[in-house]
Amino acid sequence: MVKANAYGHGIPQILSMAQKCGIKHYAVASGFEASEVLKYKSADSTILVMGILYSEDIEWVLENNIEFYVFDQGFLNLVVEKAKKTGMQARIHIEVETGGNRTGLDLAELPGVIHTLKKEKNHLKLVGVCSHLAGAETLATRFRISKQIDEFEKVRKKLQKSKLEPEMYHLASSAAAIAMPEVAYDLVRVGTAAYGIWPSPDIYNIHLTRSRKINGKPLTRVFTWKTDLVHTKNVKKDEFIGYGTSYQAFRDMQVGVIPIGYANGYPREMSNRGHVLIRGRKAPVLGSVNMNMFMVDITNIDNITVGDEVVLIGRQKNNTIGLRSFSEFSSALNNEFVSRLPAAIPRSVVR
Ligand SMILES: *Cc1c(COP(=O)(O)O)cnc(C)c1O
Repeated sequence: MVKANAYGHGIPQILSMAQKCGIKHYAVASGFEASEVLKYKSADSTILVMGILYSEDIEWVLENNIEFYVFDQGFLNLVVEKAKKTGMQARIHIEVETGGNRTGLDLAELPGVIHTLKKEKNHLKLVGVCSHLAGAETLATRFRISKQIDEFEKVRKKLQKSKLEPEMYHLASSAAAIAMPEVAYDLVRVGTAAYGIWPSPDIYNIHLTRSRKINGKPLTRVFTWKTDLVHTKNVKKDEFIGYGTSYQAFRDMQVGVIPIGYANGYPREMSNRGHVLIRGRKAPVLGSVNMNMFMVDITNIDNITVGDEVVLIGRQKNNTIGLRSFSEFSSALNNEFVSRLPAAIPRSVVR
């Protein structure tokens, strides 16, 4: 899964590494993302657009051999028309409704779709049949997820009977792939976990319970977010720091200025709450996070100089700031946080 700029990690960087690991299939959420992947992928790897594709992009998608989801008959008819026009065979995945009630082919439309797929088999290749679970991350929705799995099984049986079988069935995202390996089918759509991020505390717990190990690192976050200290200053007791009056110095303090703000993806929720690492020590955020900078308390950190490395997420000496410290302070999911990191932040592969 490399949608959302490879979960914020950067499509060019992640693809350069993924290809070396032998990964040959990339899934994205839009035509635009597919065009980004197309620039960096090797000739022998394929792309899948999961979800929305605009009708004006169909020809381009066909010409580039990109696989895509289909979840209604009208769209399928349009695909047949464009496939005939371009002389390309469309490589499609039928996404079926199983109870998520998002995209997904209504089962009432399934017979019609099967008919079209058989009739137009020169123009349509049924690569996959799939669905998406509505929250496999939380144990609280298990009843709903198991209903979806039952529905998916029904569809699979219907297709077997109709003698129209796809090359693969797929249902599981990271959470299901870890917690319910029995629904792995032929392919798993792993996003979050591929970047070393746990989908949720529940899934982490399931893993711990099963493996009976609380140490070890089954998943390791692959990215670190760093900047540098650009300015320091001494602030007298009782002065306010930054905008407004949310932080008042309770003693004489030394303050460090960090050249990152909410415009760069550092959440405003971290105002007066977050920490950064400088010289391996935690420096608390002082006052509010501004659009392009924020301040931290460096009073107790010795030998600080402008230009020192500042870790926003990651490890420095023996200290670590994880993604969880962000998701615990806001409603942001781990996924949400990384996928929103602006594409403009320079990214480099270090290993
Ligand atoms: C994003 C996405 C996934 C991957 O989900 P993760 O929880 O990140 O593994 C799987 N399937 C679909 C349809 C998706 O949109």
